[in-house]
Amino acid sequence: MHPVHRCGVLLLVLALTSGAGAAAQSDPALERARKVLRSAPLIDGHNDLAWTIRESKTAPRDVAAYDLRGRTSGHTDLERLKAGQVGAQFWSIYVPGEVKDSGYARIQLEQFDIALRTIARYPDRLALALTAADIEREFKRGRIASLLGMEGGHVIENSLGTLRAYYDLGARYLTLTHNVTLDWADAALDSARHGGLTEFGREVVREMNRMGMLVDLSHVSPGVMSDALDVAEAPVIFSHSSARALTEHGRNVPDSILQRLPKNGGVVMVTFVPAFVSQEVADWEKVADQESKRVEAQTSDTVERRRLSDAWVAAHPRPQATLAQVANHIDHVRKVAGVDHVAIGSDFDGIEHTPVGLEDVSRFPQLFAELARRGWSDADLRKLAGGNFLRVFRAAEATATRLQRERQPSTRTIGCE
Ligand SMILES: [Zn+2]
Repeated sequence: MHPVHRCGVLLLVLALTSGAGAAAQSDPALERARKVLRSAPLIDGHNDLAWTIRESKTAPRDVAAYDLRGRTSGHTDLERLKAGQVGAQFWSIYVPGEVKDSGYARIQLEQFDIALRTIARYPDRLALALTAADIEREFKRGRIASLLGMEGGHVIENSLGTLRAYYDLGARYLTLTHNVTLDWADAALDSARHGGLTEFGREVVREMNRMGMLVDLSHVSPGVMSDALDVAEAPVIFSHSSARALTEHGRNVPDSILQRLPKNGGVVMVTFVPAFVSQEVADWEKVADQESKRVEAQTSDTVERRRLSDAWVAAHPRPQATLAQVANHIDHVRKVAGVDHVAIGSDFDGIEHTPVGLEDVSRFPQLFAELARRGWSDADLRKLAGGNFLRVFRAAEATATRLQRERQPSTRTIGCE
């Protein structure tokens, strides 16, 4: 999840590229990509549609008004999901963690409600999926297997009972933190208060493994990544992160962690967030951030602030990330962690800007075509699309079956450490 998107630029780019349809049909790499995605489900790790619906300017929280059968103002609708050959989607049920004690659990339940009502509204196209078998069955039936992923461990409010109730409502991953450090885990973009996971944080991971809820390490500090890998009894995921070696950004995964994935069995779902895939964009955002702090200090007049910011951006145009850079990150994760440990986690509808060539959910096949041109085999493209994630999910399910025979639900509380 990133700040709200704006679509003027997006529509322009689509208008410019829509004339390329005839040429695309004779592109052998794209034909190969499309064939691969017909034979294996493309499983995307992160899409913020539920938050987009909640925050809609015209009809907030109104699932019916945000009509996916028509062309939406965001990155996602049914026609573009079909063009993008999306086979399964983790719908993020994100809750901001910035405001302390703001009723995280209530907002979390409301986001379950929005996501579940969205899935239920289009039964011919979407189906709730709770298991790896559900994903494969729905893919064969031609419906998009719809999974729920929670983003930010603040939503459990330091309670393992709450965590278990979320599993029963259908959540199949929890990103251990969002951008705020918790009582039990450090966030990547906040202060490192614990140096990783506390003892209660380790118990959260153990309990997730016992239930079969995937441990998502996007957004956490390298210390938490390392501690989670130490304690995890099942493969972990990074639902939307890219490679730190290519773009120095706190949200990306360092090589030292990538190197540990073969032993753990987990997967990095490479994300399209421009500042995570392009160093130029990351650097620009850093300077833009400093500039906006300077403007805030300079004046409290919001109209004047806006004018100054617009003038700065006009004088310092935002650079753009590209599809080729996303492919570079995928190639890097493959090189360091191996072809069995890489997947896709777009963050569509969670980002304001998109890479050129990856403007919305209809564009996944173009990314696979780029990798086909780079020499990826069909078998490897199938692993990237969904094969790797399905292996991870099945392993987590098998671990849960075993652990449920070995131990009872944890009664630990955060005070007992
Ligand atoms: Zn996020």
